[in-house]
Amino acid sequence: MRLNGVNIKAHCEKCRNSFRVDLVALIMVKGPDYSLIGQHPPCRIIDCQGRCSFLVSAGKNTPMITLDRWESE
Ligand SMILES: [Zn+2]
Repeated sequence: MRLNGVNIKAHCEKCRNSFRVDLVALIMVKGPDYSLIGQHPPCRIIDCQGRCSFLVSAGKNTPMITLDRWESE
């Protein structure tokens, strides 16, 4: 997975909030082989029962797409 300059965020499909994802912290917790592909973590809003999808873009001017699509390109 290319990580340099990549923006990644989690987007809740229920409350439509977006959350910044700290990849460095994530790798420190989960290990370098951890993959976000197919992961749908619970929303961070306490009262929301939704699940998040990951969105990524390769740079500032690149539109965000879902992680599953990005990986398969
Ligand atoms: Zn939510």
